[in-house]
Amino acid sequence: MAANEIMQMTEENVLHTYNRFPVVFEKGDGVRLYDTDGKEYLDFAAGIAVFSLGYNNKDYNDALKDQIDKLIHTSNLYYNVPLAEASRKLVESCGMSKAFFTNSGTEAIEGAIKAARKYAWLKDGSTDHEIIAMQHSFHGRSLGALSVTGNAGYQEPFKPLIGGVKFAEFNNLDSVKEQITEKTCAIILETVQGEGGIYPADPEFLQGIRAICDEKDILLILDEIQCGMGRTGSMWAWQAYGVQPDIMTCAKALGCGVPVGAFVLNEKTAKASLVPGDHGTTYGGNPLAMRAVSTVFDLYEKLDVTAHVNQVSAYLDKKLDELAAKYDFLTAHRGKGLMQGLVVEGRPVGEIVKKALENGLVVIVAGHDVLRMVPPLVITEKDVDEMVEKLEASF
Ligand SMILES: *Cc1c(COP(=O)(O)O)cnc(C)c1O
Repeated sequence: MAANEIMQMTEENVLHTYNRFPVVFEKGDGVRLYDTDGKEYLDFAAGIAVFSLGYNNKDYNDALKDQIDKLIHTSNLYYNVPLAEASRKLVESCGMSKAFFTNSGTEAIEGAIKAARKYAWLKDGSTDHEIIAMQHSFHGRSLGALSVTGNAGYQEPFKPLIGGVKFAEFNNLDSVKEQITEKTCAIILETVQGEGGIYPADPEFLQGIRAICDEKDILLILDEIQCGMGRTGSMWAWQAYGVQPDIMTCAKALGCGVPVGAFVLNEKTAKASLVPGDHGTTYGGNPLAMRAVSTVFDLYEKLDVTAHVNQVSAYLDKKLDELAAKYDFLTAHRGKGLMQGLVVEGRPVGEIVKKALENGLVVIVAGHDVLRMVPPLVITEKDVDEMVEKLEASF
């Protein structure tokens, strides 16, 4: 089937909630994607921060094929081998206590909110607890996750949302303090804001929030769905700040392409929150997804992914600084590790992204004016040079 027929068939049958670029990707290898016409693309998006090991990794593919032949699904009524292994590796990676596996990031947020509310309810029995979230945050599209997403445009048509959510300004500790009441049960934020425009938390901000949470027994929920799994140079972005969340959410690169997420609780929260009957999912923790998670952790260790990110991101940082200095319409460069953004002013960033795609480079947008790069974590300096060349040609 020709590419235009595939696009047409898709538009005829799939609900139009995405304005798709006119490209049909067919296969991937390493940091490269190929469309149905055989055209090659250098991928600096990784399926939105998902495919961190690169495409077609043989060890990963072999593990999944092996699992498919063994067992794809049973249910949470029974134990399975990959769940035992994946949960141990995830919990060990963050030094927390208990994980609950979901099928997406959004569901991880839902679970985190429920765990926080249950913890608070067990303490005082009241049912009007409040959560503080951040402006310009993104936590997902279901009603609970949308309720803590600081984007009025996303929220408005779907009101009423869940109650008791207040918004504070990211990286402004006073603004958070102003929202705290005796009803506050949790503060939720991304350690590095992704969709909102690539804003890393300031160390004083995150440490300040941790201190307030400790003082008042408020739970700190860190959303590491995009910035976690080595993307910023440590396995979890918060590990570079010297703070630990009470609840962490993860997804995206956790399964490197197999849909999976998780929320992880520290001991205090795990001991006094969700119990049998409180929460569940049919697919969550299924053997195929868990084999993916388990294999991803093994391969991160084997490839020393975080060390590689620290090395190659220093080079990417330098190259993006150079670009920001060279072009007037690039007014800022922000980011951490391999989660980077260039702020574009006076030109539609979407047009640059489209032009880049024509030139064989996949990059994406964050916010309304940020050119976002979240490449596979296995990129090399040579790939960075090629990206710069293709991006400049697209300006
Ligand atoms: C992508 C994302 C989500 C939502 O995850 P889905 O898997 O799309 O449901 C939540 N929070 C952050 C920070 C994200 O980047």
